[in-house]
Order: sequence, then structure tokens, then C-alpha cells
Amino acid sequence: MAIEKKIPYKIYLEENEIPTTWYNVRADMKNKPAPLLNPGTHQPMTAQELGAVFCEELVAQELDNENRFIPIPQDIQDFYKMYRPSPLVRAYCLEEKLQTPAKIYYKFEGNNTSGSHKLNSAIAQAYYAKKQGLKGVTTETGAGQWGTALSMACSYFGLDCKVFMVKVSYEQKPFRREVMRTYGASVTPSPSETTQVGRKILAEHPGTTGSLGCAISEAVEVAVGNPGYRYVLGSVLNQVLLHQSVIGLETKAALDKYGVTPDIIIGCAGGGSNLGGLISPFMGEKLRGEKNYRIIAVEPASCPSLTRGVYAYDFCDTGMVCPLAKMYTLGSDFIPAPNHAGGLRYHGMSPVLSQLYDDGMMEAVSVPQTRVFEAAEMFARVEGILPAPESSHAIRVAIDEAMKCKETGEEKTLVFGLTGTGYFDMVAYEKFHEGKMDDYVPTDEELAQYRARLPQVD
Ligand SMILES: *Cc1c(COP(=O)(O)O)cnc(C)c1O
Repeated sequence: MAIEKKIPYKIYLEENEIPTTWYNVRADMKNKPAPLLNPGTHQPMTAQELGAVFCEELVAQELDNENRFIPIPQDIQDFYKMYRPSPLVRAYCLEEKLQTPAKIYYKFEGNNTSGSHKLNSAIAQAYYAKKQGLKGVTTETGAGQWGTALSMACSYFGLDCKVFMVKVSYEQKPFRREVMRTYGASVTPSPSETTQVGRKILAEHPGTTGSLGCAISEAVEVAVGNPGYRYVLGSVLNQVLLHQSVIGLETKAALDKYGVTPDIIIGCAGGGSNLGGLISPFMGEKLRGEKNYRIIAVEPASCPSLTRGVYAYDFCDTGMVCPLAKMYTLGSDFIPAPNHAGGLRYHGMSPVLSQLYDDGMMEAVSVPQTRVFEAAEMFARVEGILPAPESSHAIRVAIDEAMKCKETGEEKTLVFGLTGTGYFDMVAYEKFHEGKMDDYVPTDEELAQYRARLPQVD
């Protein structure tokens, strides 16, 4: 079956077509995401309270449910020009391999040194910290993509950057650590002896290899305890989805150029930032009743927050120092099985996506990791790009949907987010190649135990 190739393999926008405003999907949501709550009083966090932890302008963006478009400051637009617009690629080679009538597109965000979409928000957050006259920022990183992106952004604006890196990644991914140090960041394995909460976690769980939740608690403690510092987070928050809307706006502009309307939009979901960004403008049309799209979030079967979690207020971190967020969650002390190598291991999900999912505006599926790596390998072989394990969750479901089209003969148009490259994930690929990867899926009993420890909020 020969495919007619009227659309170029890569659709690039011109530099002057990079969006100059972010799109705030909350403005079009009838049911707004639930507010963050003070963990002590269970009252909505005020701007003043949030300002002790986060930068002022980012607090304003976090709380803004009204303004549909938010201008992107010129300095951020200029930085975006170094690596954006990112290509929207027509996956002709994958289509040919699958012999599917489906038309598959992917938006590739791995074309920068951090290797993922995270730089889109990192540069914005560093910019607002600089504008506020801060000395530096603190953060956590798991696999290291967020820490890398933030290190790059901080060095660009001359800010100090303190990264708490989940200990197991710190040890297993020394090269990520060195990239961060190349950009001038200090990197501390978490849990560490340098914070109160780190010492407490170490006392309770000696020998622990850490988790994102622990690292967040440590980073927040350091930000709050040091004048001139604030904490920044690379996913989950409303502000991060806002910055990531640049992905969806570019995708839509590129498709519009060729008069292409997607039927299905697919993205992997860890904390929800790339998916939220990719779908934002499409979801806006759906919310306003202008268009209809199928939107699918893909998560690992070993960390299934949307598909098997509950929609409830929960802590964002293990140390329970952060505000409470209403989200689909597995419980803040949930840690995926040690054999889980495929990323996307956060226990909760963006409050925006959680609300949209609860309202039936999008679907979610979970996939076991060996099927994810099968898809990753097939994709690498035909499309050339070595995908990040996280991104490969979306590839898996795009292939599955394309195969359904093959059965039915439907010529659906699929778009998925290819969030990054997998060069630092070769230990996971190695496990897969050697048959040492298994598909542990938590039992209902296990999940119920974590759920029973959710905070009681009424
Ligand atoms: C961080 C990351 C993700 C998951 O984070 P989201 O906030 O859910 O987007 C996905 N892919 C890559 C490559 C990442 O670095």
C-alpha cells in the first residue's frame, strides 16, 4: 500500500509563528479545577500564603481561572526561538510499517539539551524568579529531565539552582547529574541529611532510595528557609500546564496550515503537563462546543492515577509540607514497584486534567511497560528517533489506535506528543532487551492501603 505524500514529513512553522501568548484552558472550563488548600486549616491557599513558596507572578498565573490568553514576555519568546518551533512530524514510515490507513502525526519536543518539553516551563519559571529579584530557586528531579531543563534556564538568567535528585536516579544516572552541574546547578541526592524532613525520612526508612515526594519536601524546606529563594515545580501545577500550552498552540497552527483536523489526540501523563499543554487549544474548542475530539491520557499500569486512583484532596509530597491538591491520586506515599523503569511515577495528576477527566472530557488508559518498550523499539527503528520511555506510552496507544483503524478501514487522523528522547534511559532499554523487565501491576488491596491514608478533607 503506497501512501500519498501531500503533507511534508516535517511541518515547521516560521519563527514569527511561535505563539506570543499562552492559552489558559481554565478560562473555558465550566467546572474550574478545585483550589489548593492549606494543609493545616484546609482553607483555600491565599496568594500571600502561596507567595512564601512560589514566585509572585507564578502565583498569579496559578490562581488565574479567568484570562484566556496570557502574553509570553519577550525574553521568554526570545529563548523559545533557540529551540522552537518544534516540528510536527507526519509518521509516514510508521504508517507504512503498520500498513494502516490511519494518518499519524507527532509533535517532537526532544530537540533541546534537556531532551524534553520541560524547558518550555523551566524558562518561564526562571524568568519570573529573576524578574522578582530572587537569588535562586530549588526543585526536585526524578529521572533528571526537569532538573536539567531548570539548570539550563537558571544559567541563562544567572540564577542559583539547587536540585534535589531522587537518590536512585542520582546513582543510576550520573551523566544527567553532570549535565546539571555543567549548567551550574548544585545537585543533592534525596533524601539527604541537609534538611529536617530528609533526616526524618532517613530515620524512618534507613536505606531508602528516595521518591519524588521526598525530594519535593526537601526542596520546599530549603526554599522557605533561605531568603531570596523560591520553590519551582516542573509538572502538575496549573501554571506549568499554561506554559506548556505552547506545544498545543504550535501543533494546532501547523495542522491548520494544511487543513488537517485530528480525530484523536494522545499523550503520556505523569503529572499531566505535556498532555495538558498539547490538548489545551483542542480542549478549548471542545469545551466551547465548537469541535469534538477524542483525547486519551496514557499512564503506566504500575502507577495508574487516573485509571485506578480516586478523585480527592491529597498531599503533593511525602513530607506533607505542600498544599493539598484535589486530583486523581494513588496516595502521597505510593511508590511504584522497584522494577518499574518507564518513568511517569508521580502519585497524583494535574488538577486541571483531573477535573476534565472527571467531567468526561477525556479518556485514560494504562499500559504495561514491556508493551511500552516494544512500541519504543518499533518507533526507533522506523522513525529514527530514540524515544524516552515516558513518551513511548503515547506511541504505544497511537500504534494500538492505528491498528484498530486497520481492522475497520477507517482513515482517522491521530496526533500524539513525543515528549523527549531516551539517551539517558539505556538501563531501562537494557532491562527490556535482556528480558529482565516485568509488568508488575499493583493489586486492589495494595492500592486500598494507600487510599486509606488519604487526608480527610470535607
Ligand atoms: C517529565 C516527562 C514526562 C511526564 O511529565 P508530564 O508532566 O506528565 O508531562 C513525559 N515525558 C518526558 C520526556 C518527560 O521528561
